[in-house]
Amino acid sequence: MNPPTAPILRVAVPAPLRRLFDYLPPAGVDATKLPPGIRLRVPFGRGQVIGVLLEVVRESDMPASRLKPVTEILDARPLLDAELLDLLRWASRYYQHPIGEAIQQALPAALRKGAPLRPQGVPRFRPTAESLETDPETLKRAPRQQILLAHLRPHPEGLTPGQLDELGFAWREPMKRLMARGLILREAGACLPAPRPDPRPGPTPNADQQAAIDAVEADTYHACLLDGVTGSGKTEVYLRLIERTLAAGRQALVLVPEIGLTPQLLERFRARLATPVAVLHSGLNASERLCAWQAAARGEAGVIIGTRSALFTPLARPGLIVVDEEHDLSFKQQDGFRYSARDLALVRARNLDIPIVLGSATPSLESLENCRRGRLTRLHLPARAGEAAPPAFRLLDVRGQKLQEGLSAQLLASLEAHLAAGNQALVFINRRGFAPVLMCHACGWHARCRRCDAHLTVHRQHRRLRCHHCGSEQPLPPVCPDCGSTELLHMGFGTERVADFLAARFPDVPVLRIDRDTTRRRGALQAMLERIHAGGAQILVGTQMLAKGHHFPNLTLVALLDADYGLFSADFRAAERLGQLVLQVAGRAGRAEAPGEVLIQTHHPDSPLLRSLLRQDYARYASELLAERRQAELPPCTHLALLRAEAVDAEAPTAFLREARQRAEALGSEGVQIFGPMPSPMERRAGRIRAQLLLQAHDRAPLQTLLSPWLQTLESLPAGRRVRWSIDVDPLEMF
Ligand code: ADP
Ligand code: ZN
Ligand code: ZN
Repeated sequence: MNPPTAPILRVAVPAPLRRLFDYLPPAGVDATKLPPGIRLRVPFGRGQVIGVLLEVVRESDMPASRLKPVTEILDARPLLDAELLDLLRWASRYYQHPIGEAIQQALPAALRKGAPLRPQGVPRFRPTAESLETDPETLKRAPRQQILLAHLRPHPEGLTPGQLDELGFAWREPMKRLMARGLILREAGACLPAPRPDPRPGPTPNADQQAAIDAVEADTYHACLLDGVTGSGKTEVYLRLIERTLAAGRQALVLVPEIGLTPQLLERFRARLATPVAVLHSGLNASERLCAWQAAARGEAGVIIGTRSALFTPLARPGLIVVDEEHDLSFKQQDGFRYSARDLALVRARNLDIPIVLGSATPSLESLENCRRGRLTRLHLPARAGEAAPPAFRLLDVRGQKLQEGLSAQLLASLEAHLAAGNQALVFINRRGFAPVLMCHACGWHARCRRCDAHLTVHRQHRRLRCHHCGSEQPLPPVCPDCGSTELLHMGFGTERVADFLAARFPDVPVLRIDRDTTRRRGALQAMLERIHAGGAQILVGTQMLAKGHHFPNLTLVALLDADYGLFSADFRAAERLGQLVLQVAGRAGRAEAPGEVLIQTHHPDSPLLRSLLRQDYARYASELLAERRQAELPPCTHLALLRAEAVDAEAPTAFLREARQRAEALGSEGVQIFGPMPSPMERRAGRIRAQLLLQAHDRAPLQTLLSPWLQTLESLPAGRRVRWSIDVDPLEMF
């Protein structure tokens, strides 16, 4: 029995429960000396899990006799410092996500699984494959080498000089001989490529860039929106600000969209900066990620560049945060811990009292509204830097026109002209696959997903029908399954169909299709981008993937085949997304000397939205949209939270949400409007029926006040056990 005043360890464990768990320290450990942020292996449920210590307290809600001791203390020093723990606690509260799971997201997988932090910047001596086959007898004339090798052989990961010193004999001389025999390999400890000895100077900033650079305060929290058209030199501004940060002996954290982290961008950073650049993205393996993470935490990397989750990288000497393409949806995690890395970056910068720059050619309405309210300082780069002139925009009215696989004669003529001039062209379609609908000409049957309210997409090359919502697939039927007719029509166009058509139409021109299907393999996208740069592809057909940050100097034509879908969507953000997409894709055109042209095919050439985009005045376009949002009381002028529920049982989601609504009302939901339960826009998905409850408030405060106690009660609601439910605070997708 522990006396009631004995210290108790309060631990965040990886479980979907909105609370911490209490444990006793292991026998003989002075718990008051344990720092928050270390990992502990603890008994949980029927097994063991790895949690993170958050507090050492004196009292528990549980009687001490029922508390279990910690199994193992994994770290001597905290993995997550106080600053990051605070950020995670804040995020867990704000997004209403269990703290244990939030912390898991912040840790590289290797650490999550209990891997030790490896000492780095320290060489390691490890046995080679050859040494394992060597008969120790061959070393019997060199007993010290024999002992040393015998000691190293059980350590394939290698030992550090410090560990070898513990052997208590002079190991360096025999080690040299073992290395000379090829039995031991010495590995340098650093895991980051060393910086270039001769960083290239950048261009002299122009007046707008200099004004932007000077406006960002260096030593305090200052949140800025760098609003500049594509090619206006935003990246140059980041680089200058980073140089300034490095000169002050501090680190910069740069967040980029998932697909924006291209080799070219990385190369540009590495070429310019005299510091190791650590990279964190989803394509890394566990040890690469751990290495980059540690280099950031120890201050070895001056710049950390990564996608969404890189926000949670510990920084030894933080000095600046940059969020490039801040409007990009990939900064918001769409499942599990539904945080916005952009929004949390602002919180982190404020906590750290350092400057933060959000950059975009097409800022989110959220950020523009924040500028209007004085929360962000708007820095403006109105013109392209360097030589490039803005591209010319043209709407192609395709009403009544004969289209060939979705392309008008005008568009094909332009394409031909650009190709004849030896330039590259990009054809953009928002849909992958061959055709979005397969229909029987004889009886009207069409291929639908059995598990979703959705059509199956034809993928002709692989002869499959695939559901883009649940991933289920089946072979392409040779005849109509209803009437047996062989006349099956492919309705509509996807990237595959357009690429096939263009390859047939321009047989001498290399066509490259870039979408999720063609880039699934690791490294595939990079290989394609390299091919484009080498001039090995003249026509690019692709989806959003191509809209981001790429720089193709020879690309002079951008054609958008179906901008109309953005005009009539039920999603209130559709117009914002359309504008961002059109201007971002257009930003790929004419980035170097050759002038660029942007063609937009439409059946609605008089649409005010498209007309407005034609002026290439995003600021005006956005302020019109913002006025509409204000009128309609939609974000960013109001704040939303979405409670989603899904189940195989069609009644269960609504029953749960109805009860959830009652609980909210019982808690007193003043200042919060509740809508629903209502079916989700796609009601059936992956065999489950889905419904949602929408909470809306003019101010965040009453919404936040309601959410915490409400979710606590939802966790224990019996109706909640019959559904899968989740809360999304500041949702970006409404389905
Ligand atoms: P953004 O990030 O806004 O798209 P970049 O920083 O990539 O713009 O700049 C676009 C191009 O213009 C790049 O090739 C860059 O080297 C060049 N550039 C940027 N600033 C200048 C400048 N001040 N003088 C000359 N060229 C510049
Ligand atoms: Zn049929
Ligand atoms: Zn499906």
